[in-house]
Amino acid sequence: MLFGDSPPPGLVGIAKLAAASEVLEAKTSVEYFEIDCRSALNRTRPGMPFAWSLNPYRGCEFGCRYCYARYTHEFMELRESDDFEDKIYAKSNIGFILKRELMRIDARGGIAIGTATDPYQPAERRFGRTRAALEVFAQQSGLAVSITTKSDLVRRDIALLQEIAKRNSISVNMTITTLDTELARLLEPRAPRPDLRLRAVRELADAGLPVGVFPNPIMPLITDQERRLDRLAKAARDHGATYFGGGVLFLMPCSRRVFFPFVEQHFPHLLRRYRERYENAAYLKGPYRETIQERIAVIRDRYGLSASPPHRDFAALEQQQGWLF
Ligand code: SF4
Repeated sequence: MLFGDSPPPGLVGIAKLAAASEVLEAKTSVEYFEIDCRSALNRTRPGMPFAWSLNPYRGCEFGCRYCYARYTHEFMELRESDDFEDKIYAKSNIGFILKRELMRIDARGGIAIGTATDPYQPAERRFGRTRAALEVFAQQSGLAVSITTKSDLVRRDIALLQEIAKRNSISVNMTITTLDTELARLLEPRAPRPDLRLRAVRELADAGLPVGVFPNPIMPLITDQERRLDRLAKAARDHGATYFGGGVLFLMPCSRRVFFPFVEQHFPHLLRRYRERYENAAYLKGPYRETIQERIAVIRDRYGLSASPPHRDFAALEQQQGWLF
């Protein structure tokens, strides 16, 4: 079936929208589409550190081998393992929809941009859907917005982020799983190099924006070694990051289908252990997680890093500036 043709009968909801999407651009292996955007903000599950998520794209060209978000393409009946990274959908009208939503919902519980796709993946250079959303946030006040990315393209928007920060809280989480360029290339084949991400951290920090480094997901026996994490935290601190995350790899069934063959190809000596630990459960059980949490806590202390970005006191700001919330 050619994308952009009439959708085949039987498809409903997001799968029907995806099948009917207009082709925006196609290159050798990646195709870009436009998809109707019915809502910009999605409610997150209770217990999450943010109440809303926002993803300006569906699919992510960076193609990380461990990506947990591949299942989101299955909603569109796209089930080939490469579809998630090769068929990218830019949400149409996201700025207009977001602005309308913000007029009728209370979004102060925190908005996380980039929970299921990278908001600064290559498509953003052409289609600017993340920027369109940020332009809306720049007109708001009292919101807490975070952006998670692996891309130095975020540098493009520094002035806009500063504008948002005048009346809102905004922070940037730069994901760097490893400083080893070769390993990063294997794990995250189309994402910017780790040194480029660190350069972006430096520029964000110099611009006065709260920025942290997330080594997530920490992969057992691949990126979890004390010396690797220590080196990464030191580099984060040296480039102006003030916080350092740290979550262990989890593997949904859709991720296992890509990650296990990846381990078999590049780390065959680890395959048996990965299969034993992740074959029947997405999350690791046992003391490993606590060991990693302790390791990260010690490293954070060593470099004076916190676990999360600073939060602005909106009540105080409200009193100072008389904002209405
Ligand atoms: S950058 Fe994030 S969303 Fe994109 S492929 Fe990698 S893990 Fe998945």
